[in-house]
Amino acid sequence: MKLLTVNFVQCTVKSCSSSPDCFPLHLDQQSDELPLELAHEDVDFSAEFVTGILGRIDWPALLTTTKELGNHQLPLDKPEIANPHAPENAQVLKDLHTLLLETQIVQGSMRCAACGHVYFIRDGIANFLLPGHLVQ
Ligand SMILES: [Zn+2]
Repeated sequence: MKLLTVNFVQCTVKSCSSSPDCFPLHLDQQSDELPLELAHEDVDFSAEFVTGILGRIDWPALLTTTKELGNHQLPLDKPEIANPHAPENAQVLKDLHTLLLETQIVQGSMRCAACGHVYFIRDGIANFLLPGHLVQ
């Protein structure tokens, strides 16, 4: 799954829906069970598309996610892109394109900070099905 997806999912355990800690889920670099594995996948670049996504991104959550991947290069504040085709925006949009759309999480785990439930990602697909005891 794309790294972007981490910014759009939260814990699905019912009692977590009101907790501020259910988002973002935390990538676990050190998982013994399913070590994090990333891959690069080429995706056609569209400045408008990346700008549109940027508007919907929860930036503090993205900072959390990228730090968990060991990437500390993002600015602390979300870039303001008024004109996707302005030359000064080209590099930041390309960098975000690479990070959000071309970075694939092949396998790994995402942990909820509220309840501790771990969602595994295998073959690029996150499993959000909950075990029976967690489903109301
Ligand atoms: Zn949870």
